[in-house]
Parts: sequence; C-alpha cells; structure tokens
Amino acid sequence: MSTGAPRLTLVLGDITEQDVDVVVNAANSSLLGGGGVDGAIHRRGGPRILEECRALRASRYGRGLPTGQAVATTAGELPARWVVHTVGPVYSREEDRSALLASCYRESLAVAANLGARTVAFPAISTGVYRWPLEDAARIAVEAVLNTDTTVDEVRFVLFDERAYEAFAARLG
Ligand code: ADP
Repeated sequence: MSTGAPRLTLVLGDITEQDVDVVVNAANSSLLGGGGVDGAIHRRGGPRILEECRALRASRYGRGLPTGQAVATTAGELPARWVVHTVGPVYSREEDRSALLASCYRESLAVAANLGARTVAFPAISTGVYRWPLEDAARIAVEAVLNTDTTVDEVRFVLFDERAYEAFAARLG
C-alpha cells in the first residue's frame, strides 16, 4: 500500500456537496448537532447521521467526544460515504491549544484511512464559532496534514468564503 503525505487541494465551496469518500465534520463534543458545518451536514445528510451519533453517545462516548479526537458515522444522503466527526478546540489567547487542532486533522485521517477512504474533505476546523484566527488555523491544518503518513490520496480543504480560501492558498504557495 502506498503511504506518504496526501495530495492537498483547495476548493471554495460547501463541504456537504463534495463527492469524496469522507467529509469531516467540525462537530462539538455532544455529537448532537450545532451550527456552521455541523448544522449543514445534518440538514443535508438527513436523520440517519444523528441517529448514529446518538448511538455513539449511548455507547462508546457516553461523556461526549473529547476535543482532538475523531469518530465515523455513515453519511446519510450526502454524496460522501462517511462523515468523520471531530471536535476542534475553542481558540484561547491564554493557552496554546494548537496541538489539539493538529490532532483533529491527524485523528480524522487515521479514522478515514481505517475505513479505506482515498479522498477526504476538511473544513477549516475551529475557525467559526470556535474563533481560531484563520491564518494560524490554515498553517496548523496544512502542517498537520503534510506531516501525516497515510493511505489517503487526496485531502481537500473546502473553504466557505474567499478569506478562508486565501488563507489556505497562502500556505500552499
Ligand atoms: P467550529 O465550531 O469548529 O469553529 P464552524 O462550523 O462554526 O466550526 O466553522 C468552521 C469553518 O467552516 C468556518 O470557517 C465556517 O465559515 C466554515 N463553514 C460553515 N459552513 C460550511 C459549509 N457548509 N462548508 C464548508 N465550510 C463551512
């Protein structure tokens, strides 16, 4: 099996429309839905995803999914095959939480690779409600993915607006 860093691509658009094996959800630890990417995934993906999230809460993740970790469900009616839910850290000026943000990318890729996924779409985790500054989040995201040895071929960053797209484009040179 070929391993190494995956190929990185950038798209300006909506993550729920991506035709990939895995879309990553910027979830919260409850796994029971929220706004932003989370809201869009559950809206477009239908009730099946939430049902599986509830089952995860009733079994392995009784206290919620810890920050920096990742877990898979099916993707319901989305074009993708699976959703990998990960919980980004809330940005803090007082505490450096970048290792947790990097962990989201690494752990999501590990879960995706275990499923046999070749293509994975990520949003800019933690840059919405969790307020992480875009340029810094883009740096951490790109470094984390490039430092991951994986059987995933393509990682697609799906950026929702021009500003986020430019922040990631600047990192990819
Ligand atoms: P977090 O709680 O981790 O900050 P959010 O979902 O609030 O997650 O936001 C993460 C990023 O995803 C933000 O930059 C936001 O603009 C972007 N975003 C929101 N909706 C979508 C979508 N449908 N597809 C791709 N990116 C999105």
